[in-house]
Amino acid sequence: MPEPQTVHCDMQRFMSGFTDVSHIGSTGDGGVNRPFGSEADLQLRAWLTRRMKDAGLQVTVDAIGNLWGMKAGSDPGPAIVLGSHHDSVPFGGRFDGPLGVLAALEVIQTLQETGYRNRRPLGVVSFTAEEPNPFDISTMGSRTVAGRLTTEQLLAAHDGTGRPLELAIAQAGGDLRRLSGVRKTDRDLFAFLELHIEQGRRLESAGMSAGVVTGVCGIYRELVSVAGEANHAGTTRLTDRRDALLAGAELALGVERLLLDRLSRRSRAANNREENAPAAIFRDNPEEELIATVGRFAITPNAPNIIPGQCDFTVEIRGASSSAIHSFAAEFGALAKQIGAARGVQISRKVILDQAPEAMDDTVTDTLRSAAAALRIPCRDLFSMAGHDAAHIASFTKAGMLFVPSIDGKSHCKEEETRMDDISHALAILLETTRRLDGLDIDA
Ligand SMILES: [Zn+2]
Repeated sequence: MPEPQTVHCDMQRFMSGFTDVSHIGSTGDGGVNRPFGSEADLQLRAWLTRRMKDAGLQVTVDAIGNLWGMKAGSDPGPAIVLGSHHDSVPFGGRFDGPLGVLAALEVIQTLQETGYRNRRPLGVVSFTAEEPNPFDISTMGSRTVAGRLTTEQLLAAHDGTGRPLELAIAQAGGDLRRLSGVRKTDRDLFAFLELHIEQGRRLESAGMSAGVVTGVCGIYRELVSVAGEANHAGTTRLTDRRDALLAGAELALGVERLLLDRLSRRSRAANNREENAPAAIFRDNPEEELIATVGRFAITPNAPNIIPGQCDFTVEIRGASSSAIHSFAAEFGALAKQIGAARGVQISRKVILDQAPEAMDDTVTDTLRSAAAALRIPCRDLFSMAGHDAAHIASFTKAGMLFVPSIDGKSHCKEEETRMDDISHALAILLETTRRLDGLDIDA
């Protein structure tokens, strides 16, 4: 195993950049409000463009508004690109996204300043609209690059005020009319590396500075509509009611019961297992492999003296395997049939998202692990139950992710925080991983 170079990133420069970025869209209480399409989004794009140019990178904005800063290598051919996104959820935290973009910039700048001669082209990317936004399309930049969104879908998107997505993309420097050139393949990208905050507390609990992500969960969503019968809240006898709310509420509680049943089945199985079972901790924590949520719930007519006639809600299922997600969806379907029949209501279900889990690339994850080991930085493997840009890039080339701990597991809120020591460790791992990937003699 090659010895790591004793090269350190400039943490002072990194922190000063991070402070500047945290002021853009600052809410004044420690958080940021920088959704895609906002004034703050545009300001940060300008800031990043300046910084990339100052670092000697060649800056381009692609048709979906992704910002790329590239440095040629001694060999032409596919590049190693590091990055993440710079937008935030409404009233979110400072670390989710920009951390990965600024880390990418710092790593490439440090390599450059220490005279490292890169063989493959190296680059930084900041993806457009990773978070939920008024146009209702998240991971927009990475999905477009991966060919997972069509021009028709993008051209049809508007925000709540009727403003077309096309206009917001044009303001960000993109152009939805020339999307044909935006698609990338493994001939363009040799590998993609994303540093991100964990957004949970597994690393913190384990006392680890970093986590190597083995995969990103699949996400499945369905809309459930319960049609009952609206009627008088005083005169309708209990036996004559077809209450859509009560059926919906029973189904929402049913989702939790199905999860609890699954957990108890799994923990019984785990207790029966041999002592020397596979070491991966998350595999022994079944609750981290599948989770489901009823996140939106509405009733009609929603009046105090009317029995609810209609109830509409979403069920979201996240998991490490498509088969586990689909079998949970089937269990939910069986429950819906049962409850529908028992309560005399019509229940219809419509799948609105069925995104498969993506495994991270073995070469990249092995390289991240060996770089951390060589630097003597404690890290463990983790599976991500949050979606990320890297999951879409993984559909066409080698992708890997590194997580840093979130203090108290807080994210998507103003309290979001990561220790600078952990970030410094992560930058060292990223730099060493980039160097090792650059030296690999395998074809793209
Ligand atoms: Zn993020």
